[in-house]
Amino acid sequence: MSDVIQVLSDAVANQIAAGEVIQRPASVVKELMENAVDADATTIRVIVKDAGKTMVQVVDNGTGMSETDASLCFERHATSKITRAEDLFSIQTRGFRGEALASMAAVSEITLKTRRSEDELGTHLRIVGTRHEIKEPVQTPIGTNFQVKNLFFNIPARRKFLKSDQTELRHIINEFNHVALTHPEIEFSLTHNQSEIFQLPPSNLRQRIIGIFGKSVNSYLIPLESDTTLINIAGFIGKPEHARRKYGEQFFFVNNRFIRHPYFHKAVMNGYDQILAPDYIPSYFIYFNIDPSKIDVNIHPSKTEIKFEDERSIWQILLASVKEAIGRNNLSPSLDFSKEGVIDIPILTKDTDIKQPSIDTNPAFNPFDGEESYSREKRSSPYLDDRFSGWEQLFEPAAQVQVPTNKNLQIKNKYILSPVKSGLMLVDQRRAHERILFERMMEAQEQKQPLSQQSLFPETISLNAVDYQVCLEMMEDLDRLGFDIRDFGNNSIVVHGLPAEMETVSAVNKIEMMIEQYKALQGEVSTGIPERVARSAARASAIDYGKQLSDIEMQEIIDQLFACSNPNYSPSGKLIVKIVELEELEKYFKE
Ligand code: ADP
Ligand code: MG
Repeated sequence: MSDVIQVLSDAVANQIAAGEVIQRPASVVKELMENAVDADATTIRVIVKDAGKTMVQVVDNGTGMSETDASLCFERHATSKITRAEDLFSIQTRGFRGEALASMAAVSEITLKTRRSEDELGTHLRIVGTRHEIKEPVQTPIGTNFQVKNLFFNIPARRKFLKSDQTELRHIINEFNHVALTHPEIEFSLTHNQSEIFQLPPSNLRQRIIGIFGKSVNSYLIPLESDTTLINIAGFIGKPEHARRKYGEQFFFVNNRFIRHPYFHKAVMNGYDQILAPDYIPSYFIYFNIDPSKIDVNIHPSKTEIKFEDERSIWQILLASVKEAIGRNNLSPSLDFSKEGVIDIPILTKDTDIKQPSIDTNPAFNPFDGEESYSREKRSSPYLDDRFSGWEQLFEPAAQVQVPTNKNLQIKNKYILSPVKSGLMLVDQRRAHERILFERMMEAQEQKQPLSQQSLFPETISLNAVDYQVCLEMMEDLDRLGFDIRDFGNNSIVVHGLPAEMETVSAVNKIEMMIEQYKALQGEVSTGIPERVARSAARASAIDYGKQLSDIEMQEIIDQLFACSNPNYSPSGKLIVKIVELEELEKYFKE
């Protein structure tokens, strides 16, 4: 047999390596923006067409490159940022492996125009799939202008793998935000298909956050600050009462680089312990500064995962500073944190005496109370108020097992307890209602005759750029479910009507929750968009735990649940009904 091993050509090797760094248009945006930041630009413009599939352009006013550097920058391991392996440990700039441009060049058509301040003429380069096609002098402003077109044009399989424009744009906006949030002093703009998504002037951190997430954010940011020999922690956390049932405003940055860190997320959540309703997530924008030799940034190709040498200590420091910030907010609620344009991180000296706050909590807190999303008549249960206690009450309705009309009993405003022939049935009220709504919505989609309740007062909702894109993606299917939601441009929508069963006072909460649910389901490949929309709508509209139900409501839920095709499990596969068999019950009382 002849030899079989071949050495791959550079072009093929580069294409393969490119997959690690460049996964989608958003990766191009990230790498080009980071390079512009590293080149000391004070203005960075990002322009994309068709969610970056057709073009990503980043224009900066940074240092620019010499003619030689302009050609060299596309070589693999071409970097001006490190020269020795040890430098990897002390690097403070964004990029550091000299791979990004080489990778991009292997899978797209790149045009580069760049000029340094000391040069009269700049350099114009055009590279297609690593081949230099044009190199000539050009008149161009100081700085660098990269245009990356037709990403993956030479790898059809990868191009096909790209998601819808809305999804890809969402990724782009996320990457854009990560860079913009770490450099408030730099002016950034993002334009998509001629329309401007962001225009962010140079500012302080608070104003930058507002620029990205909207004016309302201002009222709920609490400054966070902690300086220890190990690490410096600064930034903002959201007031507890502003926590939402959604992800989207949670950010960690380490030495000005965005990272994900589930373990530290837990520390923050613990800091809010006892003051958040279950499933609620606070906003946070937390910046760590740490000696680079104490972290290893290089463990993940896209660099959003970082290993810390001393994770446990940092966890403790983070937890303490979150608690301290919440406590400070709690102790002095009259402090005005809404002043714009001031440096608002208070200096705490070592001997400032900070007391651990005592926080009153209400375990029966239900943020949807008062919305009357389910019941028309609000009657309280004759058996219980919402604080169930006492075994006597448990046995009182059980005495009625023989009575033909079933009496249901609600426990902890969470489970419906119902005597049945074979024993005792327990029903999770929220999941049950979710199942009922889901089946109704799927049916409405099929029959194409949704029941929409037109609202007298259409409600305008401003969303952040990401959620707005998600909402656009859901719009068509929502329409089939009876949602009359219209695009209002400028990241906002107007709610003209909701499905009849979702009657509610405020649509905002429901819509936001629905978008959140939908995003969470996006990872599930097996569910199509219509089902995903129905599932998230059902989830968002289902009655909550903590909602006290009247007898009639309980009976309605039970009846409707058992009219469903699959009453036992929620649309996401969670158990709804559990029956404790009579024999099991009898065992409890054996002599
Ligand atoms: P890295 O950023 O890891 O060094 P890249 O492939 O992203 O690798 O960039 C290679 C080199 O090209 C950089 O080190 C820098 O010298 C140069 N470069 C890239 N983008 C710019 C820019 N916008 N302005 C000036 N120089 C740049
Ligand atoms: Mg780089």
